[in-house]
Amino acid sequence: MRYAAECVTWLAMLMAGIGVSAAVEPADAIYGGGTILTMAGPEPAQVESLAVKDGRIVFVGPAAEAATFAGPNTRRIDLAGKTLLPGFIDTHGHFVYFGKNLVDANLFGSATVAEVLERMRKQVERTPADGWIVGFGYQARQLAEGRPPTAEELDRVSADRPVLIVDSSGHLGSANAAAFRAAGISAATPDPTGGKFARGDDGKSLAGPMEETALNAVRAKRPPFSGELADRVITGAAEVWASHGQTTAMEAGLGLGNDDVAVVLNAIDKRLLPIDLYVAAKDSAMDETLAAAYGVASAYNPQAAGTLAKLRAARPDLDSRYVNRVRLGGIKFWLDGSLDTAWFTEPYTVNPPGKTGAFAGYRQIPDAVLDAAFDRFWATGLQIHMHMNGDAAADQALAAIAKAVKKHGMHDHRPVFVHASWVRPDQVEKIKACGAIPSFLPSGIVPGGDAVVRLWGPVRSAGAMAARSFLRAGLPFTFSHDAPVSPVPSILALVDAGVNRMSGSGQVIGPDERITPYQALRAVTATAAYQLKEEKTKGTLEAGKLADLVILEKNPLTVEPTTIKDIAVMETIKEGKTVWRRSAP
Ligand SMILES: [Zn+2]
Repeated sequence: MRYAAECVTWLAMLMAGIGVSAAVEPADAIYGGGTILTMAGPEPAQVESLAVKDGRIVFVGPAAEAATFAGPNTRRIDLAGKTLLPGFIDTHGHFVYFGKNLVDANLFGSATVAEVLERMRKQVERTPADGWIVGFGYQARQLAEGRPPTAEELDRVSADRPVLIVDSSGHLGSANAAAFRAAGISAATPDPTGGKFARGDDGKSLAGPMEETALNAVRAKRPPFSGELADRVITGAAEVWASHGQTTAMEAGLGLGNDDVAVVLNAIDKRLLPIDLYVAAKDSAMDETLAAAYGVASAYNPQAAGTLAKLRAARPDLDSRYVNRVRLGGIKFWLDGSLDTAWFTEPYTVNPPGKTGAFAGYRQIPDAVLDAAFDRFWATGLQIHMHMNGDAAADQALAAIAKAVKKHGMHDHRPVFVHASWVRPDQVEKIKACGAIPSFLPSGIVPGGDAVVRLWGPVRSAGAMAARSFLRAGLPFTFSHDAPVSPVPSILALVDAGVNRMSGSGQVIGPDERITPYQALRAVTATAAYQLKEEKTKGTLEAGKLADLVILEKNPLTVEPTTIKDIAVMETIKEGKTVWRRSAP
């Protein structure tokens, strides 16, 4: 692949140089008239023109040389002062999960229980007769009542059809009587391990609200998405991802839902995806152990066994290639919790609500589980993605990798440290030695930053998502949005957050870890492609690579840095074809 790319570049330069343009095959399109940032190299590089042929970039360089690629049918695209970049790459998102939420009622920003119910009533009309009426995204503490809706209230949405709502964290929810009936859950059902059904005054009857594994027990009984609904999961999410300039999306945990595999296979069969989708399958080898764990591990659905096996049985061609825009690239594990439950070696500075003593967060899986995963996957092409926020979780990952290297030798595996919010300085060298790559969640600074400062204390918060330290150490890192954890999968919001590190209250969290707009853009283009092991085809504008492009209204390198997040995406192009365009105002 590299040979071919170099060959094309060399050929193009040679021909332009010696004036044998007649021998150059005309391009399909030539872009010019704006800022073209190649994103190749540690310093910004700009070119005048870019030529595309058959979905690939065939030339980047001066306009005079690009002219040699012009034929009678070549489209000349005037950027009119706008900025052209490589298409953005999502390095940690939940594309399928997000797509499912799009099918459901959007409950984000609901102010009262009445508003939740009103939005759910509209969802009744949008839902096929045999489907559950489901909504996602409310936050109980943001409702005026300070509590989630009850079963009785949800019965007013529909008395005879199952109604289920899930909050923005995905860990809490509420259901009506018909949903409990459909799930086979009654007043006599005991609370499952790691979860709780809220009970009425009699201490038995189901009040509606539920937590963690109790919620999963109901949610798992929802009928699978099929037919038009399954199509809408994919096409809906793809439109949102493309509208934020992404030409590669990620599903980092396929298998959280029982129907995830079917939804992705449907997308492959029907060629529904206009952009690439990298899949990291929730590994199910250790489901029983995981189901017994608490906190985030309850997000594992014990009934969704064998995600990897199911995918491979249905599509043996899903190896390292993209098949109709889907690639099975990795396996996903959760090692600890989130802001309130990150697993640290030192206790929280201030305990999160409800926690007592020297609370230092939660470990999610035993070492043996992770060691077994590395035994199985270290020497294969499947990357291991590990959710981790605290330094103890990073220690666990590093120990597992060290054991794998000892047993199986060093491999170009590129394990992904998902979030890696706080790693100690002494861990950075170990990360370097094993070739691991953190995918930071800078968008978390805006909603979560102030809480991080309070709960984690000054040292850990200032060093959280240590982008500048990683740059100094010569280490790669990427930025991700984790949508729907960030409700909008905006890449420019990540760039903005990495540059400004400004919390919701306006305080700069860890000013020493701020990086330049160019460095932040590299984290969502060139380095992002490297993290996915796709740097030979994606991430920079160079001859031979795919013509995955995004056109921005303004140049992120020259605008006022706190306005980077407001720059409009104008057009998204996947392999030479426009897959999204901003409609005229
Ligand atoms: Zn995630």
